[in-house]
Amino acid sequence: MQSFININRSEPKKTEVKERVKHFDEIYTLYNRSKLAQQADRCVQCGDPFCSANGCPLSNAIPQWLLAIAGNDLKKAFLLSNETSPFPEILGRVCPQANLCEGACTLADGYGAITIGSIEATITDLAFQQGLSIEFPPLRPNLKVAVVGSGPASMSAAHFLLRAGIKVEMFERADRAGGLLTYGIPGFKLSKDIVDSRIELLKKAGMVLHLGTTIGVDLSLKHLHDSFDAVFLGVGATGGKRSGLTNEDHPSVFIAMEYLTHIQKKLFGMDSDPRFSVKGKKVVVIGGGDTAMDCLRTAVREGAESVKCLYRRDEVNMPGSPKEYINAREEGVGFLFNASPRKIELGKQGDIAGVELVRTRLGKPGEDGRAQIEEIPRSEFCAPADVVILALGFDIESVSYLSEVGVEVNRWGQVVVDAQTGKTSNPKIYAGGDCQRGADLVVTAARDGRQAALAITLELLGNN
Ligand code: SF4
Repeated sequence: MQSFININRSEPKKTEVKERVKHFDEIYTLYNRSKLAQQADRCVQCGDPFCSANGCPLSNAIPQWLLAIAGNDLKKAFLLSNETSPFPEILGRVCPQANLCEGACTLADGYGAITIGSIEATITDLAFQQGLSIEFPPLRPNLKVAVVGSGPASMSAAHFLLRAGIKVEMFERADRAGGLLTYGIPGFKLSKDIVDSRIELLKKAGMVLHLGTTIGVDLSLKHLHDSFDAVFLGVGATGGKRSGLTNEDHPSVFIAMEYLTHIQKKLFGMDSDPRFSVKGKKVVVIGGGDTAMDCLRTAVREGAESVKCLYRRDEVNMPGSPKEYINAREEGVGFLFNASPRKIELGKQGDIAGVELVRTRLGKPGEDGRAQIEEIPRSEFCAPADVVILALGFDIESVSYLSEVGVEVNRWGQVVVDAQTGKTSNPKIYAGGDCQRGADLVVTAARDGRQAALAITLELLGNN
């Protein structure tokens, strides 16, 4: 330990830009065994590990698994890492670590934070490659929980329920499981094989997966409520926010998630709608978060002539992860900051001609603490575009079946839950992830799923 004085932070190697933009494979090559131990050995094992206590929403035992892998004990590191996290190899890839565990690392000031995310992902990748697995106990015959949705909150709830020996049946409306992890996060950040492996692990542990099953259409929530000992709702926030811009209902204006889902379906070999082809076109993405970066980098790989990001604030105030912003820049994405869209302009043939924008500057902080945006008078201009993608956040899809079983929602359509347990106003139904908190990180959804699974376990095992 304390090798941080001699050994610098070293991130995993990325594929060369000209190669990586030709496909959707992951761009990072994770560490080999010796590099893994070397980077983990930089951890100073500080007495007050903020990485775990303040940085990681799952409070993962980061110093402990770093110590184990620095000592070359892969099995111990793997088991420790998988004790609190439902899928460390996924979170190590997709968490915005600079804002979480690595941002809170004691070495972040001056020496360079431990590469916690990459080490975390590599530990479980290597362990699986070596045939290590997670132990699940035999399932109790008399208890079963229905999990609605198969995204991160649901996968997490299923994982921890199965770990407690409780049977799980998962209901997913799509043709594949994984939700956002499968259809929302592109393969260059998260390989679909990694997601599939986790789903397979849950199935091997006894989870029954029902694909192509829409609750409220194929099965009622009331039916699940009456047939299972508890229900967990992890249906996400899948409705994309609209901008209210003139002409935003044009067929060449896409909502981010419909675009990303369509491209992933195409990559899975499903039918492709030519409307979503951006080859040879000028693509403009409105928004500055990680989903905007995903759309931009996807459009690059889809052969767009040019790809540009429009964002109302400046570079410093972008909400996305700095890592993804740098990757997008490296891949040729252009950025136009301090520009607020006014309307989508159409050409004479009815095609999109561009986005009319007005220059902005940042004013005093508003109620949310963020600098307010002021439009600069008479500064309008047009950014040429053939396709516009709106990456402005997510709304909860309104579903009527919740009221049928007395599940309360707030005025934004979010399921109201007890903050400690995830229990809804119906005592047999729990909820977690974006459907109860609004669009948030994968790791917070994972924490919600874990918390609800624990509460359900205490409730059910307390009665048995
Ligand atoms: Fe860091 Fe996310 Fe892993 Fe927690 S789950 S240790 S925040 S990468």
